[in-house]
Amino acid sequence: MEISKRTLEMGTENAFVVLAEVNKMLAEGKQVISFCIGQPDFRTPEVINNAAIKAINDGKSTYTASAGIPELRKAVADYYTRTRGVNFNPEHIVIGCGGKPFIHYTIASVTDYGQGHEVIYPNPGYPIYSSQILAQGAKPIALPLLEEKKYNFDIDDLKRKINDNTRLLILNSPQNPTGGVLSKDELYEISEVVKQFPKCWVYSDEVYSEIVFDNKFQSISSIPGMQERTVVVDCCSKTFAMPGWRVGYAANEKLAPHLTRWVTNTDSCAPHLCQWAVVEALNSEKSWEESKRMSSKFRERRDIIVDLLNQVPGFKCLKTGGAFYAWPNVTKTCEMLNCKSSEELRKRILNEINVACLSDIHFGPQNEGE
Ligand code: PLP
Repeated sequence: MEISKRTLEMGTENAFVVLAEVNKMLAEGKQVISFCIGQPDFRTPEVINNAAIKAINDGKSTYTASAGIPELRKAVADYYTRTRGVNFNPEHIVIGCGGKPFIHYTIASVTDYGQGHEVIYPNPGYPIYSSQILAQGAKPIALPLLEEKKYNFDIDDLKRKINDNTRLLILNSPQNPTGGVLSKDELYEISEVVKQFPKCWVYSDEVYSEIVFDNKFQSISSIPGMQERTVVVDCCSKTFAMPGWRVGYAANEKLAPHLTRWVTNTDSCAPHLCQWAVVEALNSEKSWEESKRMSSKFRERRDIIVDLLNQVPGFKCLKTGGAFYAWPNVTKTCEMLNCKSSEELRKRILNEINVACLSDIHFGPQNEGE
């Protein structure tokens, strides 16, 4: 019996692999400080929990429409309209089981298997992008994020890579893992390039939109002419500390029916009672107060951790603009400690001082010259 090539070659999220190593050490009675998985360590706000309890007691246990309950689609449209600066229609919103499934659904909706359709994605980046591009039979084109550009990419590099076969450009701001944030000016520049390619969609992964520290969050969908071709994706996982509730939301007029069909073909719908909890999360002042409190805590921690990392001999860490990651350059430390790679350094840090973190190879191949 054989396993398909696409499955065998599919990537993974290595955070879960390192998490297994951590769990093994914990089972052996070792104490480990773990920074390896990207989720808030806060509890879901009580007001949201109570809405879920009410939903259970009200019998919200059925399937829902695949696109989601109308109350949530409206709450998301209102939220997007409020925060992205352009109007969103509830009819164009699709609810899924987290932000993640929309990566698969979008790539599958805009590329055809084995036709040479290209998808440009940030590197280093959330590993599911390249893995899903390959699994859907499209061609992954990595766009290196550069330390000297505060972990944004070089616009000339985008101009070199985009072409008539490009079907999708994936953007992620604030970014996992670098914490880089795209400014309005940068988004304008990107839009100008993309607009020259009528077949190129944009996937704007905005799951960290509420964790931005120094500047206001900007969405490419707010730039004239971009909303139509952009799939805006956000979720409750990071904003309201709800990663296990599995609710995410995508918006795009033309793609909404197709993304909905993907939901029907996979999960049927996002969990009914969780959808009610997210209606409360998006509409209640109390949950927003909690969300803002968590975000300012992440900012305090950013200041502490970046400062401390820069005190480690050989480490060089830029101040991140958003999300809850730090991305230190450890090249010098590797030289000092005779480590062949940052992965070797990561293993030594885990085994010698019981601190779990991830290394660059967990977020894509090393960019040239690194
Ligand atoms: N996109 C990025 C950039 C992420 O970092 C994550 C989770 O870590 C996701 C999407 C997935 O979000 P969700 O847990 O809502 O599926």
